[in-house]
Amino acid sequence: MTKRSTALPPLTALSAPSLTWSDTSPHSDAFDDVYFSREGGRAETEHVFLNTNRLPERFAAWESTRAFVIGETGFGTGLNMLCAWACFEQHAPAGARLHLLSTEKYPLDQASLERALCAWPSLASYSQVLCAQWPAPVSGVHRLHLSDRVTLDLHYGDTTERLALLDGQVDAWFLDGFAPSKNPQMWQPELFEAMAARSRPGATFATFTCAGIVKRGLKAAGFAWKKVPGCGRKREILAGMIETPPADTRRASTPWFTPPAPLPAQHVAVIGAGIAGGCVAAALAKRGIKVSVIERDGPGAGASGNRQGALYVKLAAETNHQSRFYLSGLLYSQRWLSQLDSAELWQPCGVVQLATSAKEANRQQRFSEQHSLPESVVSPLTQNLSETAGATIEAEHGLFYPQAGWVRPKALCEHLLSKPNITLEQGNVTRLDRENGAWQLQLEDGRTIKADQVVIANAHYANAFAQTANLPLQQVRGQVSEVALPDHIQGPQRVVCAGGYVSPAIEGVLTFGASFVPNSANTDVTAEDHQRNVDELRQTLPALVAALEEAGTPLTPQTLKGRAAVRAASPDKTPYAGPVSNAPAWKADYALLSKDASKVPDVPGEHYPGLWISTAHGSRGLSSAPLCAELIASRLCDDPMPLEAPLVDHLHPGRRIISSIIRAQ
Ligand code: SAM
Repeated sequence: MTKRSTALPPLTALSAPSLTWSDTSPHSDAFDDVYFSREGGRAETEHVFLNTNRLPERFAAWESTRAFVIGETGFGTGLNMLCAWACFEQHAPAGARLHLLSTEKYPLDQASLERALCAWPSLASYSQVLCAQWPAPVSGVHRLHLSDRVTLDLHYGDTTERLALLDGQVDAWFLDGFAPSKNPQMWQPELFEAMAARSRPGATFATFTCAGIVKRGLKAAGFAWKKVPGCGRKREILAGMIETPPADTRRASTPWFTPPAPLPAQHVAVIGAGIAGGCVAAALAKRGIKVSVIERDGPGAGASGNRQGALYVKLAAETNHQSRFYLSGLLYSQRWLSQLDSAELWQPCGVVQLATSAKEANRQQRFSEQHSLPESVVSPLTQNLSETAGATIEAEHGLFYPQAGWVRPKALCEHLLSKPNITLEQGNVTRLDRENGAWQLQLEDGRTIKADQVVIANAHYANAFAQTANLPLQQVRGQVSEVALPDHIQGPQRVVCAGGYVSPAIEGVLTFGASFVPNSANTDVTAEDHQRNVDELRQTLPALVAALEEAGTPLTPQTLKGRAAVRAASPDKTPYAGPVSNAPAWKADYALLSKDASKVPDVPGEHYPGLWISTAHGSRGLSSAPLCAELIASRLCDDPMPLEAPLVDHLHPGRRIISSIIRAQ
């Protein structure tokens, strides 16, 4: 079997295909082939991909708690996937869930997508949902929530490369893509091998082509196939299945990251009602799980309790795994927040990230040159900074994230916890015990709560349990400052950040900050931190500070209001999201690595069954927590993951155990 690299390919912007239109029907200039048949596109899709995979019957009989997963090669206009969604709505029982995943190397631009989908008025209600969430053309995984029970992951990039990175398994394949004679580089043995490796036992496939290279490739990869009657121009098409897919060997050199086997999850307890806990609770509840959120103080009592917070990221110039995760997180949060459809909870007003030093300007320039990401994601700002920000700015360089903005974190926590299937319990969990296949949560007031699984999401308290005591967490105090603006003075119209951030005023109050004091758990509002925030603001928006002083509103610790809280950070500044490792077992099982890091014991990582964690979101929780919640809910429910396998591993809470064993060498 051909060995394929599972390293993350570089972050790139993808180009839209050049198309020639015949009314609403696109034709690819590069491949000289059509996206769908001009005569009976929908009927052809239904015959070739849906009926040949027996989807109506399989949907009708789907009673599993996990989602039924369809994988597709080449999303194109989305016609196949929208038809699958419509078929699912028609046949699947209540409570069933559908997960669609599709690769695409040349995503259509939004206008072309809308034009092509106009051809199918009967699918209009589905197309509108897709078009409203159409992601920016950036390589990576883009998760779209099409409905409460239907999810679509768009894996942007080359199909074979993307399937090698996919962390998930497929029940039915739509083997699409332009004809093998027009697109020979895609229909290679590696494609069929990657499909086989990502198949569930008994996974089926259907394809419109009977080309010899396809039949031979599928057979060599382990798929049985037969010719079945086609429709329209195709007399015969191909259908088949794979009985015993090959084992996933990708984690052979990092066996500690092997995911735990799925366990029942009718009732899950989430500890902590901040953004991390609220997002996990909402992600699980949406999947039909009953969730008890246990909170010692109140929703958003900790660092998620600020009135206003900035949604932004700072990406490394030479993007690493951490930056890749944060970029995916930002794009996911933007899409996810947009679906809340609430101007109260957040505003995608845009974020201007200033370079206030030559070093930072140089870093930003390197970042922009290396990636040239689409303008809808981020673009360099070298002129009109003041006009863009809606405030006088002296810095000459910056980056502009047009769809980032600000959020009301406390209100967002309350909104998330008000969803169906979620109940909030006041209490302080002091101990976790697993007995007879279930978790017992011991509360300080003597009560016990029982749950099938537990997610720890209580920020810097997360390592207070025996099972998590080994998790390195740093406490970082952060204080925001607030000032009421006089009527004639306007704050910025975008979030402006440099060392700290300042947001557009809400209800006449300008929020800025936050201070960053490592190793401090003090939550008193201090004059010292107000002063730090004012000094930062003076650097970022000097004209605004001067105008306030002139108007008789000097920014002194006495005139400012504020709020201080403690954030949790990991030593490497990446959040922890995933299953909780059994640290003593890992230390014993992988002790040999301290002698020779190349001698990897063939032992999968032991985890506490049904125990998960989402913490160490630092001051970027609005960008990281929603995607981490999806990651945990997906793994817990045995659904495909919303990130590439190397990024899933990068977030693994056990990673520090391994690095400290190796460092001890
Ligand atoms: N399934 C689509 C639909 O429902 O509209 C039609 C697919 S169209 C015939 C083929 C698609 O495969 C195009 O969107 C093309 O850009 C994509 N494609 C071709 N080669 C690819 C590759 N190597 N990796 C990813 N996508 C590819």
